[in-house]
Amino acid sequence: MHRKALTLFTPQRSAARRGAGRALLLETNASASSFPRRNVERAMTIVDSVLLPCFDGFVRYGGPFFVLFGVTLVSAVAVFFFSTPFVPLAPTDPLRIGLSVFGVYLYANIVINWLLCVFTHPGRPPQINPPSPVDRACQRCGDVWKPPRAHHCHVCNSCVLAYDHHCPWMATCIGHLNYRYFFLTLLHLAAGCAFIVALLWAYFDAPAHLMLGKYHKLPYPVTFTLMLVVAAGPPVTVLLVWHVFLIHTGQSTVEFYRRKVRLWEWHRGERGALNPYDLGPQRNWVRVFGDSSFPLHWARPSLRKPPGDGLQWATSKSLVGDV
Ligand SMILES: [Zn+2]
Ligand SMILES: [Zn+2]
Repeated sequence: MHRKALTLFTPQRSAARRGAGRALLLETNASASSFPRRNVERAMTIVDSVLLPCFDGFVRYGGPFFVLFGVTLVSAVAVFFFSTPFVPLAPTDPLRIGLSVFGVYLYANIVINWLLCVFTHPGRPPQINPPSPVDRACQRCGDVWKPPRAHHCHVCNSCVLAYDHHCPWMATCIGHLNYRYFFLTLLHLAAGCAFIVALLWAYFDAPAHLMLGKYHKLPYPVTFTLMLVVAAGPPVTVLLVWHVFLIHTGQSTVEFYRRKVRLWEWHRGERGALNPYDLGPQRNWVRVFGDSSFPLHWARPSLRKPPGDGLQWATSKSLVGDV
């Protein structure tokens, strides 16, 4: 029954309904509001022509500095980890050796995945006309083909395959070819924050010192690191959980917001349109991480490309056809 309903999805019809609904809403708002409409239009023009380009320029040209700043902070924590040290046991103690090895593993994964994400282009559609009349075209890129799941990034001013969002901390778009690196950076960053907090809690009782305002009694590197991980850990963890949800349900950030989905109705859009790219949890994860006989292949940095070319995407409709 559920599978049958998937075949009813028609993006064009859904988009037309959304457009009509939005127009009706604008009309209703304009007539209901006493605020002069031309003032609203003037304000929107200023936002579109001045504020948004300024913000886009800041994100675009500030990106390299954000990356340098982030990697420097993580590296500073790694230096403090060994120079303080955060595990005040004898250097030959097996526990200290084990925790040190795990710390190096986390640091290596964070930095390598971060840099791979920064220097891997997310994927650009071929600069050709749409292959068929039902395929989309991007006017901003000169009416070239916009494949399924591709979107135009207003910061980079180009279309990106399987576009998720533009990340200032990565100084690039997150899309088909670098999404896995982005996710693994988040995963190891969140794990690193939890690891550091656990160590400082166990050996310095540092969180208690911080809460009681006695942080000045701690060594400076401990105070610095604790404040950093306490500030960065929660937002990174929330972002990680968000992307676990997106991968698990087979959608990108932009797809989620464009369908105006509620979290508890993640598979349905604004007007009941199902997410056509949700292939089921297992297939959704394989689509990002690939299929491998090595169960922990995701846990090490790797240059292998994600499955697929980013131009054609299996849908739940095509899966129903396969059965
Ligand atoms: Zn475009
Ligand atoms: Zn971008």
